[in-house]
Amino acid sequence: MEKFDTIPAVRQHVKRLKGLGKSIGLVPTMGALHRGHLELIRRSKKETEVTIVSIFVNPIQFNSPEDLANYPKNLRQDMQMLSEEGVDLVFIPDEQEMYPEAVSTEFDFGPIEQVLEGRFRPGHFNGVGIVVSKLFHILQPDRAYFGQKDLQQVTLIRKLVKDLSFPTSVVTVATVREESGLALSSRNLRLSEKGRKIAPLLYETLLFCKEELLKGQDWLSLKNEIIERKLRPASIEPDYLELVELSRFSLINSPIPHVPFAICIAAYIENIRLIDNIVISEKQN
Ligand code: AMP
Repeated sequence: MEKFDTIPAVRQHVKRLKGLGKSIGLVPTMGALHRGHLELIRRSKKETEVTIVSIFVNPIQFNSPEDLANYPKNLRQDMQMLSEEGVDLVFIPDEQEMYPEAVSTEFDFGPIEQVLEGRFRPGHFNGVGIVVSKLFHILQPDRAYFGQKDLQQVTLIRKLVKDLSFPTSVVTVATVREESGLALSSRNLRLSEKGRKIAPLLYETLLFCKEELLKGQDWLSLKNEIIERKLRPASIEPDYLELVELSRFSLINSPIPHVPFAICIAAYIENIRLIDNIVISEKQN
């Protein structure tokens, strides 16, 4: 496994790979790797000739300095996992390498970014747009792999790729979960044992909402009841629990027949912010 931490060195290597006609798969991560990341890597290894994993905790996508400071880091274990997975190249730039000076370019993704994560984490998606654009320019992937767990992020990246004509196919990989249903996340590492026991309630809530919605329950009363009777009593403080119509990623108040939608949640458990979602497409209806 090759390891690069500077842009010129990795660019030169990528140029050589491109010259040999190799297809490149990119898995962008912020490290503290888990089985969710590995699923993206395995998919890339299946579909491309060279798999690159980037590890960079992107400061400009954090809207809370505390969240950035507390973001888990585990580089030694990450490197071991990546080498065991047979990853070809790891790109680990530091902040100075990625942002030698403050970035002044700004993305405005319009209405998509005014709901859910965009609404609760101002500036977050601008930071994501900047770092993904930079990684795409530096590493020139043919395919790039993102998790469905960050549904709004991957939706926005698809739009970015279309709007700016990046020659990269975006692949969405299904959310990997613990047996309890809890979506794997680097942030889970920060939960106490008690927090870990509570956290599966997020996914249970999504499944319960789905079941009730498909029975025809009114969404707004269902949502209020869940927040007041299930989540808050369990010390889960939601930022949002919303239905999103997938083609425009806009909020809806009830499912629309034959229109795919997602149920999305973000909530604090022990001051740690977790997100999850499930997609409900026609086939399941
Ligand atoms: P992160 O390191 O949290 O920025 O995540 C890097 C990539 O892994 C993103 O595309 C995430 O959506 C994806 N990812 C994180 N957790 C999971 C999971 N449980 N299942 C699938 N993909 C995930």
